Amino acid sequence: MRKNVLLGTVLAAAMALVLAGAVFPRGQQRAGPCDYDLLIKNGLVMDGSGGPAKALDVAIKGDMIVKVAPSLKGRATRIIDASGRTVTPGFIDLHTHVDDGMVFRENRACLNYLLQGVTSVVVGQCGGSAWPIFEKAEDLIRMWSEEGIGLNAALLVGHGQVRQLVMGLENREPTAEELEKMKALVKEAMEQGASGISTGLIYVPGSFSKTDEVIELVKVVAPYKGIYHTHMRNERERLLEAIRETVEISEKTGVPAHISHFKVLGKSNWGLSREACRLVEEARARGLTITADQYPYRFSNGYPYRLLIPHEAWLGEKAAPGLGTEDVMNILDYLRDAELLDLYKKITPYYPLSPNHERFLAGLPRQRLVSLVAWSLVDLDPFRGPENARERRFFIDRLRDPAEAEKIRRVVRRSIEESVGAENIVVGIAVEKNLEGKTLAEVAVIKGKRIEDAAIELDLMGARCIPLQMGEEDIEVIMKKDYVGTGSDGTAPFYGFGLPHIRSYSTFLHKIKKYALERKAITLAHAIRSQTSLPAAIMNWNDRGWIKEGCKADIVVLDVRNIRTPTSISNPHQYSRGVDYLLVNGQTVIEKGRWNGALPGRVLKLKQS
Ligand SMILES: [Zn+2]
Repeated sequence: MRKNVLLGTVLAAAMALVLAGAVFPRGQQRAGPCDYDLLIKNGLVMDGSGGPAKALDVAIKGDMIVKVAPSLKGRATRIIDASGRTVTPGFIDLHTHVDDGMVFRENRACLNYLLQGVTSVVVGQCGGSAWPIFEKAEDLIRMWSEEGIGLNAALLVGHGQVRQLVMGLENREPTAEELEKMKALVKEAMEQGASGISTGLIYVPGSFSKTDEVIELVKVVAPYKGIYHTHMRNERERLLEAIRETVEISEKTGVPAHISHFKVLGKSNWGLSREACRLVEEARARGLTITADQYPYRFSNGYPYRLLIPHEAWLGEKAAPGLGTEDVMNILDYLRDAELLDLYKKITPYYPLSPNHERFLAGLPRQRLVSLVAWSLVDLDPFRGPENARERRFFIDRLRDPAEAEKIRRVVRRSIEESVGAENIVVGIAVEKNLEGKTLAEVAVIKGKRIEDAAIELDLMGARCIPLQMGEEDIEVIMKKDYVGTGSDGTAPFYGFGLPHIRSYSTFLHKIKKYALERKAITLAHAIRSQTSLPAAIMNWNDRGWIKEGCKADIVVLDVRNIRTPTSISNPHQYSRGVDYLLVNGQTVIEKGRWNGALPGRVLKLKQS
């Protein structure tokens, strides 16, 4: 009897919670069959089409959206009250490097993306993918499927990896036999579930390839209806040439071409975006499928800092240059093969090595092993100036000599003017915290110094400065195009480790907040479309990217008015806020703004996305 009273009380309380619009927790189901597993009620739905928001309820059963209508009736196991919230399809990131971080099981939730509302990503970008060197595609897919991932992931096979496996880092054209080997590797990846191929034509070894080689390899993905993603050969003064190459590759292969992180780098090139877009549109008008993605920031690079004192000013005329890759290779050449392998194991993030990776290393000729270890060892960031004590002391000595100091000032001033100008250089990290976020021009005013003296002082104090290489106008010209989706170019970092670009934590919500809500460069509906139905169409997924009956239930419940992106250059590891609920394949992963531990993501293969 008492038991029944208690049960009645619990049921009444539960009913009251439902009526109050509260979430009905999993596991506390009412008796009897339910019409739906989940009902998202009272929200404003932006369905991904780019049209206006509508007051609609969304019903979910299993991993599917089964009904979208006003004031849905019917019983549901769970109800989410989305009053005052915007309900959109899960965001799709067309360009991420999260696969690097996902090597580690701890990072497979990709929490930094879930909290931005991202439910699917495309990885294997810029010519780099985990296979065929480190893993077989099928092994990676099996591992992610069995162990779980936070969001859905589609994989591209990286041209750079394929080339490296067959030809090493050699700067020449492939022989006919090598080309056949590369084609076979691309085919193998496609058979195992890849969605297409990516190139990084600006990076070694992609930069060693001619257009014809790329065309031959892209042709391989055509019968699978695969796609070609490209980090183009040039994003600066030869941007237009690079776009023409991309168009040519699409035209000669019949494969849709997708431009990764579409941008114009370098102040002297700002304004090129209009002509670049015109070339894309001309090709589209001819019936070709050319699309692009973009991240909404003015600076690029995983490690964007640049010294304000250029090399020539550091070194002067008398100093010898610092250690380079060639020197490292000469030193490494003294080691035996076994010692080289041992060293490689200490520096590669892909440790412990997979059997496939071990086999690859064992088969490498001596010289290639040496160069692989050297390249892995040396930080190849060309923007990192000489920072060793020898050069620093030499520099400070020269500053004390008035004639030398004047020379240094002249070089520093010219280098700042010729790059992006003092008004486009931002202090990222500085001993004087009040300077962080200020431009160099502002710092000079604060310090009452000339620009070049402020710059020299900042560098000597160890400040990290970031040149803003992209112009705001180009960003907006590109963003407004209806064929440009969103691609963060970010990573899945270990929380708190290193200084990743803030795009890893904020791309999607920053784009909405800054460009749709604040600057009104685009509408909210345009922003949502660019990260939902458009990328789904680009990737040829017809069951994602929409709030529509029959689509997979990847859904964001977003508190648009309370979007927060606290990440900053000096303190990047800060999660975005505003995503109250997130569903991946019908399962909640974010609840009341917190991750619930679920890993319902799937590997999206071309045939069965
Ligand atoms: Zn890239």
